[in-house]
This record gives sequence, structure tokens and C-alpha cells, in this order.
Amino acid sequence: MQAAAAALFKEWSGYLKPEDISQLESAFHFSEQAHEGQFRRSGEPYVSHPLAVANILAQWHLDPQALTAALLHDVMEDTAVTKTEISRNFGKPVAELVDGVSKLHKIEFETHAEAQAENFRKMLLAMARDVRVILIKLADRLHNMRTLGAVEPEKRRRIARETLEIYAPIANRLGLNSIYQELEDLSLKHVYPDRYRVLAKAVKAARGNRREVVGKVMDSIKRKLKNAGVEAQVHGREKHLYSIYRKMREKHFTFAQVQDVFGFRIIVNDVAACYLALGALHSLYKPIPGKFKDYVAIPKANGYQALHTTLFGPFGTPIEVQVRTAEMHKIAEAGVASHWLYKSSDTSLSELQKKTHQWLQSLLEMQSQSGDSVEFLEHLKVDLFPDEVYVFTPKGKIMALPRGTTAVDFAYAVHTDIGNRCVAVKINQELMPLRTELRNGDRVEIITAAHAKPNPLWLNFVVTGKARSRIRHFLKTMHFQESAQLGERLLNQSLTALGSALAETKEAQWDKFVRDSGAKSRQEILADIGLGKRLAAVVARRLLSLGEPGPNEVPAPGSVIIRGSEGMAVQFAKCCQPIPGDPIIGIISKGQGMVIHTHDCPVIAKARHDPDRILDVAWDPETKKPFEVSIKLVVANQRGVLAKVAAEIAEAGSNIQNVAVDPEDGSRYTNMFFTLQVSNRLHLARIMRGLRRIPEVVRLSRVKG
Ligand code: MN
Repeated sequence: MQAAAAALFKEWSGYLKPEDISQLESAFHFSEQAHEGQFRRSGEPYVSHPLAVANILAQWHLDPQALTAALLHDVMEDTAVTKTEISRNFGKPVAELVDGVSKLHKIEFETHAEAQAENFRKMLLAMARDVRVILIKLADRLHNMRTLGAVEPEKRRRIARETLEIYAPIANRLGLNSIYQELEDLSLKHVYPDRYRVLAKAVKAARGNRREVVGKVMDSIKRKLKNAGVEAQVHGREKHLYSIYRKMREKHFTFAQVQDVFGFRIIVNDVAACYLALGALHSLYKPIPGKFKDYVAIPKANGYQALHTTLFGPFGTPIEVQVRTAEMHKIAEAGVASHWLYKSSDTSLSELQKKTHQWLQSLLEMQSQSGDSVEFLEHLKVDLFPDEVYVFTPKGKIMALPRGTTAVDFAYAVHTDIGNRCVAVKINQELMPLRTELRNGDRVEIITAAHAKPNPLWLNFVVTGKARSRIRHFLKTMHFQESAQLGERLLNQSLTALGSALAETKEAQWDKFVRDSGAKSRQEILADIGLGKRLAAVVARRLLSLGEPGPNEVPAPGSVIIRGSEGMAVQFAKCCQPIPGDPIIGIISKGQGMVIHTHDCPVIAKARHDPDRILDVAWDPETKKPFEVSIKLVVANQRGVLAKVAAEIAEAGSNIQNVAVDPEDGSRYTNMFFTLQVSNRLHLARIMRGLRRIPEVVRLSRVKG
């Protein structure tokens, strides 16, 4: 193993600095020790696997951190080594990378069900804030796929299917073409070994048949480019096996139909040469209209650049051509990985680096964004899945939530009870406010308390419909309960005033009451009382009348104005202004309690159809409070008449609250309106008798309604 490792380190030193190599050496030894005694299915020591994974990354010229993490990628999963230990030995970034890969590993076991595949794919892309985690994972999978032969058939098929559903599409989306194709072909080989064999044989045979034609076309292209002064490499391009298989299956093509097109790739030195080559090709063979695509000027979202065109070939066969620079080609093959190319002093590499940055720059400008490649990747992720964030429960379950989601939304998404009782949240092990917006890959742990309640303020920041409706529902229910509690207290007061108590009421009374009143439950009646929709005193009386007769006949103690209104808000109607001594009737009105009218008030007549609201009441003989009453006088228009009237009222021991006199209109009589304070009907009669004695008073009446 040591020898194999030494050979690779030597190879890697082609683009890495000596100090990087020595860190990789110590990472290798660390990994070798950690995996001591573990073996691959093939019988090799386990450490051969991380070494191979690191080497795949080295082929893409990834940075030393990524390679170090690759060497260590299985130690957290398979050995006792902790993240802290890795961090101490190799730095925090490496530890984060290893941790990220380990997390992906964990999910894999919980989510291999096919239904979860799409979710997992999104998750994988989104959760890794550092794309290198995905690159390491893909390299890991690539090596496992390459060595899958040693694994038993059942497991082999499962892993190959998972690769096809999850890893290959990710590689494709990230623009990692060569891995993508290799993963697909390897998967096909292990999922459908027979189809793979037949197809591989057919492709080999077709290659022989086509060789002559392809050779002729290639020669024509080379000659044409040379004449046009374009320095270029021309390659014949073949579809990978899986893409042939897919086309046959999805489009129901025969093998011959799929193969009935020639592919060429032309690699030139610079961007200008791309267009020169294109011009030359279009003058050689006619382009098929509508097939030309300029991904140089407008790169694909994953960074892919090239000119694509399809030509009418000399034998009626379409010719697909891709034209790109060498740098674009590298990016096309390595995709996102090319942004992590290690910056070394090697001039050719830094040249590529520069180009990559230029290209990144143009991409970013086009998307009117600015910033570094990390931001680009964020942007890329946002583009791929704009509306969702993917977060973890403490048990590693994936939750997909809308963008802008907060910890409270998460809590309700897990369970309504968790939402209703949440008091705090730990995001990635750190206590954070509940309103914190969740980010991709966050591990979210909700802290609950048994008696916690939703806060109405949460409605200001939650984004999910579920959280919103559950909070509203809870608040409404809580409101109901509080109202019912208040109603219970009010009813108990009323019952006490009537010489009974809530505790003395019987189930039978309640049942009958609830049935009669059309309410759903006793609780609803109580809540109605609390909300002022029903009057406690009325309910109390009705309840008692449903029980044994007696207690409600006991006169209530204290200085009440109206008997029968105990515990109830009482108002005197403005329309008829009843005063003690008037025959009166109480009308229950919503939100106003009981309103007392005189028995002849027109309002009473209107309320007759609703007998529930009408209550027989009587004045309390002890009443001392002054009452307002209005009178109207018709007086002869003579000087000093107002003073005479006022003096007479004062004489009778009453206060004048208000006076209104109709304006002088030249007539002999005028109207005067007085609002007086009287203690009762007798008092009023005395005042009126006095006023009648004044000669100028022609007519006198009490005003009602
Ligand atoms: Mn591995």
C-alpha cells in the first residue's frame, strides 16, 4: 500500500506544493491507521479505497483540502475518529468536508427507497454548501462502481440503480460529463448485464462499419480548417452506451436509428477560432437550420461552453459538431470541479485558472450578479431549485420547506404539537431565535416546553400555510377557553346572587338548557356568556327554573335599582326614560345587558316576538338615585316666562339638566323642552303640578319616545 501511495504522491506533486504533499502523506497515514484491520470486498486493505478516491480528485486537479478530506472520507463513518480530531490534525475546512460526506452517507441508508430518490438528489445538491462535498461523494461512488464486481449481485444491482437515479443525474447537472457517462455505463453494466453486453458488442461492430465514412468526413473537416488557417484537433465523438440505450428505450429507436448520426468535436486555441472554425464548417457542409447553438456567448447554467451545429453530411447522414477551446473542453469534462482547480505556480494552470475566472465573470455579469465562485455555486443551486430549502431533523430525516422558512414553520411541519409547544431552536447545535430563517443543510432541533403556547407574533414571520393556520386555530381555541372560563365566573356570580351556585346546578338542568338553547355544549354556553352573547343572569334564572323551584324567589340583598337584574348590566332606555314608579319591562340586548323601558314604550311592542329577551322587572323600593326625565311645555310668549318655569322646578327640589326653547317666530306661543332630574314618579307629579299653576303654561306633558 505504501508503495502505491508513494507513486500517487509523486504524481500529484505535478500540480501540488511540497507542503501540500506532506499534509496528504500524514492524512494517508492517519487514514491507514484508522482503517487498520478493515478490508475491501476485493481483499485489499480498506485504505486503498480512500486513496483511489483522492486520486480521482487529483485527476481533476482539485485542491489539497479536498484531497485530504477524500483520504479521510470514511474514517468518521467506519472508525472511532471524531470530527474534532480531524479538525485538530488537518484544520476545520477538512473536518467540515469529511463531516459533510459522512452526513450524505448516513442519509443514503435511510432513503434508498425509490420514492425518496428525487428528494435525495435535491438534498444532496442543496445541502452541501461546499460543492467539494459532492465532488468527493461522486468520486467515492465512482470508485465503488468501478470495483462493484467484488460485491454480491443483489447489492450490486441496488447500488447501480441508486447510482443511475441519484449520482449520475447530479454529475450531469454539475456538468461533470466524464463521470456522468462512466457512472451511467457502469450502472447499465450492473443493472442489465445482458443488455450491456449486447449493446457494447453492437457499438463495436458499428464502429467498424462506420470507420470508413467517419474517416472521410474527418479528413474533409481537417483539410477545410487548415485551409481556413484554424489550428484545431478534430475528434470523432461516440455516444456513451447508456445514452444509446436511453434513446432506444425512450424514443423507441432501433439501434441503427440511434447510430445514424456522426459526432465530431473540434478543439481550438481561442474563442475567436471557435467562430472561424464554425464558418469553415458551414461552408463545407450546409448547416441544418435551427440546430445552431451558441453556448460560448451564452453558457449553460452549469458553466458548459461550446458552439453546437448540425450539418448535412455527404452521405445524407447528419453530422453533429461541437466546437470549443481547450479550456472550455476541460470545463466541460470536469464541470463545477474546474472552479476548485488548485492554484499552483504552474503557468499553464494559472492560465486556465484565469480563463475560468474570466468565464465565471462573464457568467456572473450576465446573470447580473457579482462575487466569487462560492456565490456562483449558491446561485447555481438557487437556479436549480429556486423555491425550496432542505433541512434535517435531529434524526437525519430530510424536510423540504419553502424558501424563507423559519424555525417555527419547521416545528409545525414536524408536528402540530411541536409547533404549539416550541420555545427555542437549536440550528446546527446553536441556540437561535425562533424567527431565524433556515438555510439549506441546516440541522434543526426544536426545543419544546409542556405548557408553552403559540405566540400571536409568530404570525408576522411564518411562511408556511400549515404554521399559519395552526397558530390561528390555537389562538381561536385558546380564546374560546378563556371566554368559557370568564363565562363560568360570571354565571357563578349570578347564581350566587340568586342564592344558588354553579356547583349546585345539576347535569339534567344543563342538558335541558343546552338542548333548549340550541347550543352544542355547556362549554359553548359559558363561552357565549364570557363573550357577552348571552347574559349570565338570564342563563342563571333559566337554569334554576329548570331545576327545583325555590331559590330564585329569594329577594336579592343589597342596593339594586331593578329587582331581577342582579349581576347584569342595567341601562335605562333613552327613548322612554323610565323613572321609579313607572311600570317597566327589561329587554335583553346583545352587548348592552338589560335595557329598562316603560311598559308602554313602542320598543317593547317590537320585542314581543322574541319573548326570550323580555324580562319582567320591578323597581327596588330603596332606590335613591336621581333619574332623568324630559318634559315639554307650551307657554305664552311673554317676558320672564323661562325664569318663572325654572324657579318653579327648583322650588320642587329638581335640577335642570338641559333646556331647549324653539326659536322666536312671531307666534304667540312657544315650545320649551326640559330635561330634569327626579327621584321618582311622585316627584315628577309634584313638579308638574307646580308648573301648571304658572298662568303662561298652556300645556304640559312628559316626553316619551
Ligand atoms: Mn467511501
